[in-house]
Amino acid sequence: MKTVVELSEMEQSKPFIGTIYSETINKNTTHLIGFCFDGTTSYRPGARFGPDAIRDASFGLETYSPYLDKDLEDSTVVDCGNLPIYPSKWRLTNDYFHGVTKDLKLKEDNIKLLVLGGEHSISYGPIRLCLDNYDDLVLLHLDAHADLRDGYLEEKFSHASIIRRMYDHMDEKNELIQYGIRSGTKVEFDFMKEKSTLETSLQSLCKRLEEIDSNRPIYMTLDLDFFDPAFFPGTGTPEAGGENFHSFVKIMKILNQKNLVGADIVELAPMLDSTGNSSAFASKVVRETLLAMQGGN
Ligand code: MN
Ligand code: MN
Repeated sequence: MKTVVELSEMEQSKPFIGTIYSETINKNTTHLIGFCFDGTTSYRPGARFGPDAIRDASFGLETYSPYLDKDLEDSTVVDCGNLPIYPSKWRLTNDYFHGVTKDLKLKEDNIKLLVLGGEHSISYGPIRLCLDNYDDLVLLHLDAHADLRDGYLEEKFSHASIIRRMYDHMDEKNELIQYGIRSGTKVEFDFMKEKSTLETSLQSLCKRLEEIDSNRPIYMTLDLDFFDPAFFPGTGTPEAGGENFHSFVKIMKILNQKNLVGADIVELAPMLDSTGNSSAFASKVVRETLLAMQGGN
C-alpha cells in the first residue's frame, strides 16, 4: 500500500471485520470512513451513531459473502475510523473531508472510498469528489425519498436536498438513476419524470444497470430507509412499502460485474431499533458493498 494522504485527528474505532485500521489513504485500496453527522435531521436524530454500530455488528458476520463469492480477507480494505466531527456544523466537517480528499487522484491511483453516515447530507463531499474525478460517472440513488428539494427548512445542504445538490454538479455526460423512491412532493416526482431518473420496478432497474458499459464508473448512494421498516426500523424517517435484502443482493450482483468506484451508506440510527437487527442488516449491506467495490470480476 502506498500512502498518498495522511489523515489527522481521526477518531479511532474498532475496525470493520476483515479490514485493518489505518489513518492513511493509500493507492490501490478501498477505504471505509465514518462521517458521524446528523445536524440537519428534521425528524428523529441518531444517525451520528451509525458508523460505530455498523462496525460493532460486523463482528457477527463472516468476511465471506456467499452472494458474491468473495472474501474481505482477499481484499485490500482499510478502515480509517471517523472524521473529526463538529456536531451541528455540516460545513466544518464537510470542509475537513474536502481538505483531505481534494487532491486525491481516485482513478489514476485506484483509490476507493465507502463513506458511512450520518444523515444523507454527508454524501455531498464523497459524491462531489467522484464527479470531479470521473467525467462520465453514473450516480445510483437508492432511497425511500427523492431528496430533490431545492433546500429544506432554510438549509440548502439538507439531507432532503442532497440529490438535487448533486444534480447541480452533473452534466450531459453523467446519469442519475433513482430507485426505491416512494415519497416526495409532486414537484420532485415531476422532476424525476421529466429527467427520466426514476425506475419503478426492480426488473427495469436491473435492465438499466445491466446496460451500463462495464468500464463506466458508478457511484452508489444508499439511504437505508430504502428498505422496508419491517426489516429496517432503525432509521430516522421510516417509510412503508420498501425493499428487502434480496432485492439489494440482486442489485449488488450486477454492480459486482460493473465498475463501482465509490459509495456511501447513510441513515442508520441504531438507537431507534433496540433489537440491534437494523445495525446487523446495515453491516451486511456494507460487507456486500465493500466486496462489490473490489475489482477482478
Ligand atoms: Mn430517505
Ligand atoms: Mn435520503
